[in-house]
Amino acid sequence: MTANPNTQHDVVIIGGGAAGLSAAVMLGRARRSVVVIDEAHPRNRFAPHMHGLLSRDGMSPLALIETGRAEALKYGVTFVAGAATVIEPADEGFIVRGPQDLRARRVIVATGLVDVLPDIPGVEQLWGTAAVVCPYCDGWEVRDEPLGVIATSPMSRNQAHLLRQWSSDLTVFGAREAGIPEVELEGLAARGIALAPPALEVSGTLGDVRVSTASGRHRVARVFVGARPRPSDALLRELGCSTTDTPAGPFVGTDPSGQTSVAGVWAIGNVADAKALVPIALGAGTLAATQVNISLLEEEIARASAA
Ligand SMILES: Cc1cc2nc3c(=O)[nH]c(=O)nc-3n(C[C@H](O)[C@H](O)[C@H](O)COP(=O)(O)OP(=O)(O)OC[C@H]3O[C@@H](n4cnc5c(N)ncnc54)[C@H](O)[C@@H]3O)c2cc1C
Repeated sequence: MTANPNTQHDVVIIGGGAAGLSAAVMLGRARRSVVVIDEAHPRNRFAPHMHGLLSRDGMSPLALIETGRAEALKYGVTFVAGAATVIEPADEGFIVRGPQDLRARRVIVATGLVDVLPDIPGVEQLWGTAAVVCPYCDGWEVRDEPLGVIATSPMSRNQAHLLRQWSSDLTVFGAREAGIPEVELEGLAARGIALAPPALEVSGTLGDVRVSTASGRHRVARVFVGARPRPSDALLRELGCSTTDTPAGPFVGTDPSGQTSVAGVWAIGNVADAKALVPIALGAGTLAATQVNISLLEEEIARASAA
């Protein structure tokens, strides 16, 4: 389906992953005119299964998106394929430019984040299966097996301590070189976590991953990588949305409903919150949708009263 560029829509949602689709379904059900513009590269597309999502454990991430799109279509939501390139303030709202220009009273940005992987041969090839980021998502399946952490920054200390809950046979590669302070290295060792030189290359498959280092080759079932989260927030920054410092770096700041510092623009899911796993992104979409709807409604009440 295509959206009519001359129509003033109630809401344009940029990004059709978990967060964006969840907002689209709720706004569609509220009988709002909604367009979703989506590049269709959800962050977890490399993973065959999702975990930790009540009633959908083990579902493929792409199946979730397909189901969400079908549900949104049922409620009259329109989809545009491709990338939004700019959000411009305009009379009574915004113009979202991209494959086609879209006018809207409100904009929800749900563009996710990109995992910047360390430049270690093999990591990219194994990403999503044998090399992953989140113990909550992918720890249970390899519990009690030998596991590895590829350290990339002092934050890898947290990933290692967390992962120790899933296995007592844990090795951190390149902890010192990643800048984890000496006292923290002792803390890792105190919990029985082994320290090894930096990973030079990884290969193999889930259950049988080989990590090459200067001191030899290690075998683990899976490696957890300190990927750096880079929010896909250029549209928001160019619009002037303010940012806030978080342990994962600066992210666009929002109120609990996702409202940014620019009136009429919401940011939800991973673009505004590095910790937004799928169920959190889904909830953020629902909450933002109800607040966006109320803000439209208040505008309509004020207009009717003025008339
Ligand atoms: C390997 C891996 C495994 C994971 N496993 C799990 C798991 O098991 N359970 C779990 O809860 N979480 C898991 N996650 C986290 C999960 O990926 C995120 O929680 C989820 O993707 C966040 O949803 P989102 O809607 O914010 O972003 P996304 O799902 O990334 O969706 C963003 C969408 O916006 C689009 N987009 C970006 N820029 C533009 C633009 N300018 N114009 C138009 N469209 C744009 C993208 O192409 C994409 O389709 C995993 C992550 C990774 C990396």
